[in-house]
Amino acid sequence: MSRVFLSLGSNLGDRLSNIQQAVSSLGMSEHIKIIKTSSFYETQPWGNKDQEWFINAAVALDTDLTCEALLELCQNIEIQLGRIRRENEKWAQRAIDIDILMYDDKLISKGSELIVPHPLMHLRAFVLVPMLEVKSDLVHPVFNKTISELYDELADPEDVFLYGTVLPR
Ligand code: ADP
Ligand code: MG
Repeated sequence: MSRVFLSLGSNLGDRLSNIQQAVSSLGMSEHIKIIKTSSFYETQPWGNKDQEWFINAAVALDTDLTCEALLELCQNIEIQLGRIRRENEKWAQRAIDIDILMYDDKLISKGSELIVPHPLMHLRAFVLVPMLEVKSDLVHPVFNKTISELYDELADPEDVFLYGTVLPR
């Protein structure tokens, strides 16, 4: 069994339901046991800022799938939930995005198809804030720092609000 951490995001359609359906689809696999799900957070778009705000969450799970097989399962769930991939649209709006943050403490690099730990996770408040809730003392195997330490080191974190709180204007 491997312990895996995922980041989920949606900024298109019924964002909350997209994430809830993705988590429940993952949980329906006989190869996956969901260990913990974070709260939902409403987050400012990162990278391409000219789009709707996201809802993000993080999940811890145990699986007997290889990391490659888990990525394939995540991509199938993305497609089921109506994600349309377009070429040359980096960080575009999407009904659902599921990223593998960590797979045990393995370092995986299969071209650009699969890189674990996720190469941008340590720079993104929308990943680190939900992960603080799931496992703040998880150690990133490349930087040898905990999620808390990585979060504290963010120079210019984008806005992340607990979902359901009133957003500032
Ligand atoms: P992004 O998540 O960067 O917004 P996509 O979800 O479209 O963009 O992912 C682009 C590609 O990233 C996918 O085709 C996938 O093969 C690759 N990829 C590399 N590493 C990972 C990872 N750790 N988790 C999810 N996808 C990954
Ligand atoms: Mg992705």
